[in-house]
Amino acid sequence: MDFQYSPDQETFRKEFRDWLAANLPPGLCLDDAADDRVASDRETFERRRAWQRTMHGAGWVGITWPKEYGGRGAGLIERVIWEETYAAARAPVLPGSMGLNLVGPTLIHWGTDEQKRRHLPPILAAEEIWCQGFSEPGAGSDLASLRTRAVDHGDHYVVNGQKVWTSGAHFAHWIILLARTNPDAGRHAGISCFLVPMTTPGIAVRPLVLMTGHHHFNEVFFTDVAVPKTNLLGPLNQGWKVATTTLMHERHSAGGRGHAAQIARLVELARRVTLDGRPAWEHPWVRQRLAELAIECEALKYTRLRSLTRQLRGEPPGPEGSILKLTGSELGVRIAEVAGGLLGMHVLVNRPSDAVSDAPRWFNRVLAARQYTISAGTSEIQRNIIGERVLGLPKG
Ligand SMILES: Cc1cc2nc3c(=O)[nH]c(=O)nc-3n(C[C@H](O)[C@H](O)[C@H](O)COP(=O)(O)OP(=O)(O)OC[C@H]3O[C@@H](n4cnc5c(N)ncnc54)[C@H](O)[C@@H]3O)c2cc1C
Repeated sequence: MDFQYSPDQETFRKEFRDWLAANLPPGLCLDDAADDRVASDRETFERRRAWQRTMHGAGWVGITWPKEYGGRGAGLIERVIWEETYAAARAPVLPGSMGLNLVGPTLIHWGTDEQKRRHLPPILAAEEIWCQGFSEPGAGSDLASLRTRAVDHGDHYVVNGQKVWTSGAHFAHWIILLARTNPDAGRHAGISCFLVPMTTPGIAVRPLVLMTGHHHFNEVFFTDVAVPKTNLLGPLNQGWKVATTTLMHERHSAGGRGHAAQIARLVELARRVTLDGRPAWEHPWVRQRLAELAIECEALKYTRLRSLTRQLRGEPPGPEGSILKLTGSELGVRIAEVAGGLLGMHVLVNRPSDAVSDAPRWFNRVLAARQYTISAGTSEIQRNIIGERVLGLPKG
């Protein structure tokens, strides 16, 4: 493992940092961008779209996308540098991130030339925003049991069914949709993947609100929705393979980032608040918990580097993906628990108070942390994978 960045990579970092310092509007900055991955209202969403357009114009979007598709064609290390620099600038998650990180790479792998020409440029420029229509009531961890149907009607399919937990569907122009095209085939064999405009008659989006009050995801209903055959992505009945490409890209960024910054803020909080009449920082159990979090955070960093080293050597993704997803999301929950222990009932207040001037930050941490242990494959599913593939335990 080489811990040094090359001079070219350092130049890349400086160039991006300087560009962000000169161009990122301060009003868009956030403490914890992950808490607001989907914009909280349309106005914020539109301001972020304009921001993505500015970034794209300057060549800072689609860093690892091939040049022929409008990306920068940079390597994995540049992507890591991009992510570190972007997070350090407190910049918001790009509104087109679902398209950039999941749909775009899937299209590049499976799309026809016409589909690539049609869809990739508007993804980069935030002209078209995408959402992911995979999960259904009764088909989350066990995605292959999905029941939304797409029935052949000559030159088009007719889709009926329901999706759930669809992040950002209320802002999206397109949905990447999994539907069953052959109910008589095996569970994985009869599924296909479609590209569907959200304006198609018969699609209804109903909000689901997180316990933070944030409208993040939705239920999406399909009633006799006509989808042209040209909108099939990948071969008919091979949608499971297409979905696997998407999910591989999803795991890459799952588990959460920014733990080190959160722990640093927690240390600062422990110095500020009092417990039993003395600064929390002076209590041995507080110091112990903070030390544990810092150690876990370091271990996570080196696991991430190990995973990166494998990818740079061109080796297939190892079990690190599941380990990173599991430990990253669970560390987020433990950080939230320590914050709750320090703040007691103040943590339930979502506005600055005399006692806790940055109360909204901790309110969001405590209520939002657990979602990462569910999205992109739950902790139990990751433990199953680690148990079977790393520890060699029998299949559950
Ligand atoms: C913030 C967030 C955003 C999301 N965004 C999207 C999105 O944009 N698009 C989309 O399609 N989906 C999205 N999802 C859905 C997500 O993929 C599912 O919630 C997830 O896969 C779990 O499925 P489920 O909710 O149906 O739970 P279930 O699969 O019903 O699981 C219920 C419980 O049973 C446990 N369990 C299930 N199977 C096993 C097993 N074999 N062994 C042990 N335990 C098991 C699970 O771990 C869990 O605790 C999102 C979810 C969240 C939380």
